[in-house]
Amino acid sequence: MLLRHTPTEIKERSALTVNPAKTCQPIGAMYAALGVHGCLPHSHGSQGCYAYHRSALTRHFKEPVVAATSAFTEGASVFGGQANLVQAIDNIFTVYNPEVIAVHTTCLSETIGDDVPQIVAKAKADGKVPEGKYVFHANTPSYVGSHVTGFANMTKAMVEYFAEANGLKSKTINLIPGYVEPADMAEIRRLATVMGITTIMFPDTAKVLNGPLTGKYKMFPEGGVTINELQKCGSSAGTVALGRIASMPAARALDAKCKVPCQILDLPIGLTATDAFVDTLRQTAGVSVPDAINLERGQLVDTISDWHQYLYGKRVAIVGDPDQVLALTRFLVGLDMRPVHIITGSPSGKKYEKSLRDAVARVPDAVNIRVPGDMLLFHQWLKNNPVDLIIGNTYAKYIAKDEDIPLVRYGFPIYDRMGHSYFSTMGYRGALRLMEKILDAILDRKDRDADDITMELVM
Ligand code: SF4
Repeated sequence: MLLRHTPTEIKERSALTVNPAKTCQPIGAMYAALGVHGCLPHSHGSQGCYAYHRSALTRHFKEPVVAATSAFTEGASVFGGQANLVQAIDNIFTVYNPEVIAVHTTCLSETIGDDVPQIVAKAKADGKVPEGKYVFHANTPSYVGSHVTGFANMTKAMVEYFAEANGLKSKTINLIPGYVEPADMAEIRRLATVMGITTIMFPDTAKVLNGPLTGKYKMFPEGGVTINELQKCGSSAGTVALGRIASMPAARALDAKCKVPCQILDLPIGLTATDAFVDTLRQTAGVSVPDAINLERGQLVDTISDWHQYLYGKRVAIVGDPDQVLALTRFLVGLDMRPVHIITGSPSGKKYEKSLRDAVARVPDAVNIRVPGDMLLFHQWLKNNPVDLIIGNTYAKYIAKDEDIPLVRYGFPIYDRMGHSYFSTMGYRGALRLMEKILDAILDRKDRDADDITMELVM
């Protein structure tokens, strides 16, 4: 009982978070930056922050995550980090030779008030940025927002720094995939490609954080959106942005800067959300939906109807990032499951509170929703009103163990299981995979709890 001190009695807290259901902005910024080809993320702050950000991403993706730091010491903390960043830019281009450096700030550099654009301008003026190379930045103070905000800010920075309108509109569609796994990004792009659509996806961490083992270390893997593509995205016919919190700021910025119209959708988790995504692609690109996609959809519909008897009425507790939590809740309600405890730690998820309440309107049980909420409250709800299943990241496993409830790991971070960066849960195929995970957890529990009389071979 690792969390045996969690009290059942719930006391309202306004100034104290216990076990936050989120992590810090620069982690999301670093993840987004890794989705740019040839990019070295740079953490403008102390070494401790950067070590934590790298290790969080490395543990989740099981891949070495490269990044650099301004390595603040006492002097920089008092007088500002300009000298450190200018020196770092010089060192990085000289030693590692990336195409681009993506600088994000930390709590420390934000508190000092370092003006990163001014420092980058000085580095350029001092000849520290070689011809044809780039430096861009996002402000990511971690005392506001969460890793999702950091991702959104860095993705928006890609538009602000690079997108250009050349006066002509191409047939290309921009895809902004949201804070999802590399496999999800690949699946989102695959659906568009099967429909015959040319896309620019940003960021794109496929083949960066789920690349092959070749025996040869490549500091900058094959994948990632190129700077050239980012420049061209300002001339695309439209943008489809997935997830209001992680992707909308970039899509809106692109519309404002280059007049590229955007559609903001839920993450394509489950049947209805994927239908909306495919239909939006169809209309935006003026194409038809090929049989191959209709087949995938039909298989998912068949599976939903076959598996409904096991999933119907199951009570679920969900904790995670806002875009995922909303799309998951809608998916589960569509399966006639009952999401009854819902928490996201990201303050920006507040925008979703009404949508979440609307999504669970037809759930017959009492539903708890808290945005932002923490893991302590989540645990207390579970103690008072148990569920059949928890869906959440690795940190939920302590609660799952203490309360003896099956856990499906989903979201960020997942430190103790593999496969999430290789097997998508987006699109029709991804929904099948997610349902398989949910069904396995529920039926494994049924088998475990069955006695000799009630144990069934065929379920
Ligand atoms: S100090 Fe701020 S930026 Fe650094 S690890 Fe902590 S929360 Fe993140």
